[in-house]
Amino acid sequence: MAAMQRLLRAAASGGAAAARRRMGSLAAEQAPPAAAAPKGFPFAAEERMRRRPAAERNVQWVFLGCPGVGKGTYASRLSRLLGVPHIATGDLLRDELASTGPLAAQLAEIVNQGKLVSDEIIINLLSKRLKKGEDKGESGFILDGFPRTVKQAEILDGVTDIDMVVNLKLREDILVEKCLGRRICSQCGKNFNVACIDVKGENGLPAIYMAPLLPPNNCMSKMITRADDTEEVVRNRLRIYNDMSQPVEDFYREQGKLLEFDLPGGIPESWPKLLHVLNLEDQEELKLAAA
Ligand code: ADP
Repeated sequence: MAAMQRLLRAAASGGAAAARRRMGSLAAEQAPPAAAAPKGFPFAAEERMRRRPAAERNVQWVFLGCPGVGKGTYASRLSRLLGVPHIATGDLLRDELASTGPLAAQLAEIVNQGKLVSDEIIINLLSKRLKKGEDKGESGFILDGFPRTVKQAEILDGVTDIDMVVNLKLREDILVEKCLGRRICSQCGKNFNVACIDVKGENGLPAIYMAPLLPPNNCMSKMITRADDTEEVVRNRLRIYNDMSQPVEDFYREQGKLLEFDLPGGIPESWPKLLHVLNLEDQEELKLAAA
């Protein structure tokens, strides 16, 4: 993780090529000199030597999907099940916005319009978060909201191995409704949703029911709505997702790492199916039995 977070920082200041160059020197610090690398990919050999095989570390997964699809919900449930941190770049940004740091005002304007913040800023925040986790002994991760552009995906690829990318999918009309129904408790930070999705099946599309996720009594009076969850901004975020983030799906599809998952409904229907496709049903049974 140390190498990953240093390299991500290097990438933020000089792009993917700089990250790869820096990786060469880092690899030299950590491993014996590599054999001659293949032509046209000069740092491939060093990369291979530095990367840890999946069997020797925790999972390194990415969650992709449009705004409102439920990346945070499922990524955080899986992270608890697998004992790895759930790292959401949107949360890192909102923490920064809530601070009085110099970045806050500049970021608020970008995020509240639904635009993407610069790679440099996002990678700096991610590096800091990884460093903090590393100090606490964290290993592995489930990333949510990163990478969001092909450039970010290339930078990530340059510094570590991603084992799997889960692409959550839901119809666009439902995504908008879900974003507009989203509420957060200003005290405990938990996410809720007041929207009741009940869409009939038509034109070959299945019916979908998603019950509202209502807050307990003690959170009820503290509900707030994200400033970027207005209809205009949600539609802008969806547009930007289609332009900037959908190519990231192709990036991972070409690598054979993309797992497509059409959400069949709310959490009660979707969670067991997701565990099934991820081959994690036994893991949950073990965890429930141990609880
Ligand atoms: P959602 O997936 O619902 O749009 P997020 O919490 O993931 O919400 O992100 C909220 C906002 O944070 C985005 O609209 C964007 O402004 C910013 N953001 C989050 N992750 C990134 C990223 N990787 N690159 C650039 N901007 C990001």
